[in-house]
Amino acid sequence: MRVRISRKKLRDEVIARIEEISGEQISKCFQCGKCSAGCPSVDSMDILPNQIIRLLQIGEKDEVLASRTIWVCDSCFTCESRCPKGIDVAKVMEAARQIILRANVDKVKPYEIDEKTFEGLPQAGIVSCLRKFTG
Ligand code: SF4
Ligand code: SF4
Repeated sequence: MRVRISRKKLRDEVIARIEEISGEQISKCFQCGKCSAGCPSVDSMDILPNQIIRLLQIGEKDEVLASRTIWVCDSCFTCESRCPKGIDVAKVMEAARQIILRANVDKVKPYEIDEKTFEGLPQAGIVSCLRKFTG
């Protein structure tokens, strides 16, 4: 994949917000890949956790915000415990989700879920789903 890096992209406001919300310094990552190697959810992701960090480092926020990965991450913190730089990738994923949800874009639209689907789900699951996927 060819990526054009520009100063404007590197100083992107949204990426600065992701760092602010997460409290993590994305530039510290040196791409060792240990986060992705230990992540239990990679099979369901379209972009690996270390690639999410890399994309943010080079200013490619749109790819990150459009990814399935940020919604699939279940905040298990395995990546943080493995990261030699102490980067909490789960917090970065959460911050990316917050950017979308705070713009009033719901990932799951409760009113579009039919009653039958709700019937088979545990209440705690529904509540945590709506907390994670709606703004
Ligand atoms: S917190 Fe998310 S990215 Fe990190 S290991 Fe767990 S599922 Fe993977
Ligand atoms: S484990 Fe840490 S340093 Fe290594 S790729 Fe993941 S975020 Fe970057």
